[in-house]
Amino acid sequence: MADAQFDLAGAIRTIPDYPKPGVMFRDITTLLADPVAFGETVERLVAPFRDIGADKVAGVEARGFILGGALAHQLSAGFVPIRKRGKLPHETVRVAYSLEYGLDEIEMHRDAVKAGEKVILTDDLIATGGTAEGAVKLLRQLGAEIVAACFVIDLPDLGGRKKLEALGVPVRTLVEFE
Ligand code: AMP
Repeated sequence: MADAQFDLAGAIRTIPDYPKPGVMFRDITTLLADPVAFGETVERLVAPFRDIGADKVAGVEARGFILGGALAHQLSAGFVPIRKRGKLPHETVRVAYSLEYGLDEIEMHRDAVKAGEKVILTDDLIATGGTAEGAVKLLRQLGAEIVAACFVIDLPDLGGRKKLEALGVPVRTLVEFE
């Protein structure tokens, strides 16, 4: 059972000015290294989804892989990696998405999800929502039904949650930082 009193935010380390001046980097490696905090995180993220019959959890490279594997196991679902361009060996679908400066591309295997499958999307953090929006486009291109997107951390000032909700994707997050 999850412990509502446990301080998840306190298990996350903040590195000022990384990777560039002005960014407060929210580092979840401290949370992942703490078995109680990691367990709490997984329990709380999956709690609303235990009985929805999710087929797959899709995780965004790289920290979304760590969470996604744990979530998929908890939900008896499969895991699907969404990766930066050029890392996946088989036929892929690809989408460009906007970063603060410029564009990047993510892709997934074309046969990783079947039309109609229920998918939960996950990553460590949602900021502007550009990455998650790209992932939603890929999954929908393959006909997936995205039942939710879940993140440990929300930076609400950057608007990502609202962007995903406007796309019709329910969003679950555990911790907010300014
Ligand atoms: P965005 O596409 O703007 O929502 O950014 C989300 C992606 O960038 C996630 O994969 C995060 O891991 C990473 N990210 C963005 N901002 C931060 C931050 N302040 N601390 C840690 N990771 C971040």
